Amino acid sequence: MEAINKAKLMDGRALARRLLAGAVAKVEKIHEIAGVTPTLATVLVGDDRASATYVRMKRKRCEDAGMKSLRVELPLGTTTEELVEEIEKLAADESVHGILVQHPVPKPIDKRAAFEAIPVEKDVDGVTSSTLGRVILNMPAFVSCTPKGIIQLLDEYHVELDGAHAVVIGRSPILGRPMASILINRHATVTLCHSRTRSLPSIVRHADVIIAAVGKPRFVQGGWIKVGAVVIDAGYNEGNIGDVDFDGAIEPCSLITPVPGGVGPMTIATLIDQTADAAALQLGVDL
Ligand code: NAP
Repeated sequence: MEAINKAKLMDGRALARRLLAGAVAKVEKIHEIAGVTPTLATVLVGDDRASATYVRMKRKRCEDAGMKSLRVELPLGTTTEELVEEIEKLAADESVHGILVQHPVPKPIDKRAAFEAIPVEKDVDGVTSSTLGRVILNMPAFVSCTPKGIIQLLDEYHVELDGAHAVVIGRSPILGRPMASILINRHATVTLCHSRTRSLPSIVRHADVIIAAVGKPRFVQGGWIKVGAVVIDAGYNEGNIGDVDFDGAIEPCSLITPVPGGVGPMTIATLIDQTADAAALQLGVDL
């Protein structure tokens, strides 16, 4: 039983390690050719502990890959205008190649206004409306990191998407929406579900590929899953719990991402890789 279960696991850690190794090579080449170290600016507003931890992890991965990380920390009480001004400074700074605004930002701040201050060529976290538009139109872009990480995992495990029925649960601008667009661009038939969707279990039952991006622990039940379906659990809830009931899903599914160790590591590795790519593009280095 244990052996069967392991064979079904999609190993996000292993693929992320390879992606990061590739980013290291890109960083070295950029340095060799342009004499510049790719730099990611991280912007953190307020004192949310989880956000601070995520930023720390991203900065560490960045430095591990040989890149510089520029830390911008703004106090609770920062206004939208002040935050936008900081981002505009980073946008104009030629030594900064990627900008990440850690979200959620404190409530009174207009998050969309902050995101839109990031120029598309430095939008390595894929949060701007321009980036999302490019993703929808299948144009080159730095795609939001979680859906980009997921598509790389699906490709790594040779999951057939052409003509497959993919059900995406969640329609957020950073996850569900770009994920649905990427899958459409890969010729899947996509059903995008959300909190107003009726008869969700019966929709999920028809899915060849399920992407759970809901933010509710163990929300997707094993009984909803068609035998042989591929299950991607993007959820990351308190206590390392995903959005899928893993114990119920492991039997019917053909492949599944564990939490932790599935989608999470791919998200950060994609951010690092895209920052290296952004630097190369800005510096005219052909990778
Ligand atoms: P979000 O912005 O809160 O969006 C959640 C989505 O789920 C919304 O579209 C919502 O629908 C939908 N939803 C809520 N309740 C539902 C229900 N009962 N039935 C169907 N749909 C429902 O969350 P997010 O930022 O996309 O994140 C989703 C999950 O992914 C979270 O667990 C988060 O922690 C995780 N995440 C993980 C990573 C990673 O690196 N692993 C990165 C980002 C996010 P409405 O639009 O109708 O409200």
